[in-house]
Amino acid sequence: MKQSQLFTKTRKDAPKDEVAKNAQLLIRAGYIHKEMAGVYALMPLGLRVMNKIATIIREEMDSIGGKELQMTALQDKKPWEVSGRWNDEIVDNWFKTALKNGTDIGLGFTHEEPLTNLMKEYIRSFRDLPVYIYQLQTKFRNEARAKSGVMRTREFLMKDLYSFTKDVASHEAFYEKAKQAYVNIFERVGLGDRTYITFASGGSFSKYSHEFQTVTDAGEDNIYVDEKKKIAVNEEVNNPEVLKELGIKKEDLVQKKAVEVGNIFSLGTRYSDAFDLKYIDSEGKALPVIMGSYGIGLQRLMGTIAEVMSDENGLVWPKNISPFQIHLIALLDKEGKEGKVGVAGEKLYKTLTEKGIEVLYDDRDVRPGEKFADSDLIGIPLRVVISEKTMAEGIVETKDRKTGEVRKIAEKELFVL
Ligand code: ATP
Ligand code: MG
Repeated sequence: MKQSQLFTKTRKDAPKDEVAKNAQLLIRAGYIHKEMAGVYALMPLGLRVMNKIATIIREEMDSIGGKELQMTALQDKKPWEVSGRWNDEIVDNWFKTALKNGTDIGLGFTHEEPLTNLMKEYIRSFRDLPVYIYQLQTKFRNEARAKSGVMRTREFLMKDLYSFTKDVASHEAFYEKAKQAYVNIFERVGLGDRTYITFASGGSFSKYSHEFQTVTDAGEDNIYVDEKKKIAVNEEVNNPEVLKELGIKKEDLVQKKAVEVGNIFSLGTRYSDAFDLKYIDSEGKALPVIMGSYGIGLQRLMGTIAEVMSDENGLVWPKNISPFQIHLIALLDKEGKEGKVGVAGEKLYKTLTEKGIEVLYDDRDVRPGEKFADSDLIGIPLRVVISEKTMAEGIVETKDRKTGEVRKIAEKELFVL
């Protein structure tokens, strides 16, 4: 992509009402646009990051047998009345609206109900199980506060997976696989070393659920971490009985601020009972399906990465989810784009792109200082400068965004990065 054609511009300041560092940086660098409090649009750079995150999530979900579908945002209230969750006393963050004829509808904040309802059409016998379904779909939540930038929004993309299994043993086996897939996801997006599997309360079916909590001061949660065991407990379950059961000593726990980037939950028969979702086993007996749900908020993940991987000059994307791998900067000579550097830059940009390397090419005719500042703010892992000076030396100059390390290398070394 050529920067001269990228319509988003970097800006010195974020909107005055934006208090979260993640949103300030993402807005200033042109990744997102603030529509209103708690609602953000994705600009081309932001969409590229989200697509990278989505690809990693899809790969991990597919690898444990997930089948992708897409449910609707508009929700019929009937299934929600079946579970009791249409009630505003029980769910306090619904966005509800109505059809022209007065029929109430809602904007989905999660999808257990419609999906359990839908699976009644497809699950009949033990041969139809297990089923693992996931989607990357927009959720709407009328959150009371929206002060954490893209980490808590009123409209966001969630990956939600639902498991349907025939008994507790097969549920538990899948639950462990899903847990490992989550570990892989957070590792791959660069948050592995600060994300803790955190024991949380499990609802009526199982003793615990598990949250994936990433340590950051921008988080809204408090967790209690056992560094040696690399696990944590959340506030709900931080009590002597639970610690004893988990083999954790109170004195080994350190309190940390963290954000819940994902969670996995055993639902048992809560929804299958409500919807009478049963299957016929090999002996002809009707049994309730055992369910689980597994969520990750994509914008929250992007925002968390922006919080923890940034410095005073801007964003510092990990390679796997950076919008581009190389930020190529041409320091144009007096002849501008038609000059020697402009022509060589264009050629290098084309060559790299043809080799499948994702390049943001700063072909703009602006001051070097502005280019460098923008490059730091946008945060692509490797900056590559081509100028009259580097051309005279027959090299390009690279700078690692994270370490600051500067190197002079031959152009062709870039092809094998
Ligand atoms: P929280 O405790 O932070 O309010 P939650 O427990 O309500 O979140 P879930 O309903 O389990 O969250 O949703 C699954 C995932 O969706 C969460 O782990 C989080 O990553 C993400 N998520 C939840 N609410 C939001 C939100 N308002 N904005 C962005 N992401 C969210
Ligand atoms: Mg939660």
